Amino acid sequence: MFTIPQYHDSNMQKSLTKTLVFQLDPDENGQQLLNDAFLESRRTYNETIRRAKHGDDWEEIREGLESDADLVNNTAQLVVQKSLGAMENYYEYDDYNQPSHTKDGAYPLRSNYEEGYNLFLEDDCIRYRISAKPYHPVKGTLHGSPDVLDQLRTAIESDAWRVGTAEAMKCNGNYELHINITHTEASVRDKQDSRTVIGVDINEDCVALAALHEDDIVNSVVIDYPEIKEERHRYFTMRKRMQNAEKLSFDRAFEQKEERFVHDQLHKVSRRVVEWVSQFDCSVIVFEDLKEMRDSIDYGTRMNRRLHSLPFRKLRDFITYKAAFQGIPSGEIKPEYTSQACSLTECEHTTRANRDKKRFKCVECGRQDHADRNAAINIAKKGLEKLNRDVPALKTLPNVRKMRRQASGCVNQPTVTHDTAIGHHADGVAGVSD
Ligand SMILES: [Zn+2]
Repeated sequence: MFTIPQYHDSNMQKSLTKTLVFQLDPDENGQQLLNDAFLESRRTYNETIRRAKHGDDWEEIREGLESDADLVNNTAQLVVQKSLGAMENYYEYDDYNQPSHTKDGAYPLRSNYEEGYNLFLEDDCIRYRISAKPYHPVKGTLHGSPDVLDQLRTAIESDAWRVGTAEAMKCNGNYELHINITHTEASVRDKQDSRTVIGVDINEDCVALAALHEDDIVNSVVIDYPEIKEERHRYFTMRKRMQNAEKLSFDRAFEQKEERFVHDQLHKVSRRVVEWVSQFDCSVIVFEDLKEMRDSIDYGTRMNRRLHSLPFRKLRDFITYKAAFQGIPSGEIKPEYTSQACSLTECEHTTRANRDKKRFKCVECGRQDHADRNAAINIAKKGLEKLNRDVPALKTLPNVRKMRRQASGCVNQPTVTHDTAIGHHADGVAGVSD
């Protein structure tokens, strides 16, 4: 499961909140209780909307429904609050699409930590207790990726984090709990205050970075990580062989091993990226919008290959997350033509023919470049545009500098991998050096 940092406004800066997604494992009785609670949550939602539309006083709606609903008090409160929030948004933003009070079916159950739901750390797992109804808790063990479980464990144990509201819901037939955690100190600078825009081009075997000011390119670098690609191909071949021999349990073991290796490598790469970025004042990191990449049809096979060949989103999330903990914001731009356009301002000739794998050679002006560095510059230019800043008139570009993220021997040692899995690397603070 992915965790997307969200930034909530508080004064000028923004605090860092993440939503962690877990699977629940309720027994039959627990499922029944949750299903009932989801329906009761729907009923409460509908009733709130109905009364609000009717023009009832919102304070009276609150009082009435909170005591009326067959939910734990503060859980009912949160459901009512969410419904009224929907009404508020309708009044502010929307003229026709009023919140509906006639839909049926499950509605998420929102509750406060240590009130409507609680979590208990055990040596090898995290147990949950959700008050589906007063005096009728649903209990079990949280399931999720090791990464997300570690983050929650850290959040529960550490003063640096606050565990907030959670929503229990049913997604595609599975029971899930979405838990919000907020960092109590970290805050992210407002994007609009940025001076340096860092374009990031993520590829299967390298990530290219380009730092631009309004008046010029400041610096650029290509960080290579061929070992990730090599390892993935190695595991891919092994996995194929295993499947053919019908050794599925081995297959799963290899998959996990590969996952850990890639995970560990991506953490290291993302640390290196954020280290490089943090040399600049007031920077903002800009990525290509992955959703746009997937949706765009004529975008060609390169993108599709890129999307499938590496957990791009994972690397992007790691970078975003680690940067956020240094107060550095991140954003996105539309990916069209970033890899095909010549980044020199006086040229900007755009054609697929400009590019041949890693080599960029502009068919118009003849300029040659590392294809991914060229793309990173284009991404940074778009980033400046998006912030309504001047885009520098680029006449010359600095030499391409390469940095190798070396495959250190220790990444293959299980102890180190294990450290990463339970340690604090995931929070991006303790893991700045490697
Ligand atoms: Zn050109």
